[in-house]
Amino acid sequence: KLSVQGLTKSYDGLPVLERVDLDVAAGSFCTIVGASGCGKSTFLRMLLSQELPSRGRILLDGRPLPDEPTPDRGIVFQKYSVFSHLTVAENLILASEFEAAPWTGRLFASARKSAFADIDGLLERIGLKAAANKYPVQLSGGMQQRLAIAQALIKKPGILLLDEPFGALDPGIRVDMHDLLLGLWQDLGMTIFMVTHDIHEAFKLGTRLLVFDKVRHDPQAPQAYGATITYDLPLDSPGAARS
Ligand code: ATP
Ligand code: MG
Repeated sequence: KLSVQGLTKSYDGLPVLERVDLDVAAGSFCTIVGASGCGKSTFLRMLLSQELPSRGRILLDGRPLPDEPTPDRGIVFQKYSVFSHLTVAENLILASEFEAAPWTGRLFASARKSAFADIDGLLERIGLKAAANKYPVQLSGGMQQRLAIAQALIKKPGILLLDEPFGALDPGIRVDMHDLLLGLWQDLGMTIFMVTHDIHEAFKLGTRLLVFDKVRHDPQAPQAYGATITYDLPLDSPGAARS
């Protein structure tokens, strides 16, 4: 279980997130929507420990999250989630040996090796077998995101964070990606947090919908606001609907 308690994040004294409280059962699929700039990506970066809270804390099964990214949490962004100078297979091999953070250009040493028996099997599972030796630039947007998801999942993290992962894809391709993601979620039994600007996607995929909103709380300092969760709705589980 993940427990967010009084989570507050400020930049230069201005609150971005303000006392967010949330309990999330393991295996939930939380979709997150909210106006641009209200702190959704900041929230995901804190779940990854790429940013640390200004106040409050995040507990995972009763213990504080480590204060740096660890293999038990994977993340996928809209872009730049893979190394462009490496092939599909090389990206996965690298991610299986290290902690790869292509969006920062960094690699971290990792004791935890790939949780998938073989890279070939994983390539097959995500539909990239035929593209193993291609470079990301040679792939369609959907294929690139398949690779990014595979890379994030290679250590079988308990938590997968997705920041508008399908925002740049055509609607038809998105549907394929939804199927892939739901299948992986059901197989691997992880907790997912996915930020999206597509409300249909949020309802279709989630077991729970979180709506973030900016709250201005001090008329004397109108530019100082903090976002908080204004709606928290249980959704029909797509997993149950599909099985
Ligand atoms: P979008 O939907 O556009 O992606 P978001 O909800 O993901 O928006 P964030 O990227 O989390 O929003 O940003 C929330 C606020 O925090 C914004 O006002 C942003 O300018 C500010 N912010 C984010 N990161 C930093 C930073 N490192 N330093 C200063 N301000 C920041
Ligand atoms: Mg964002």
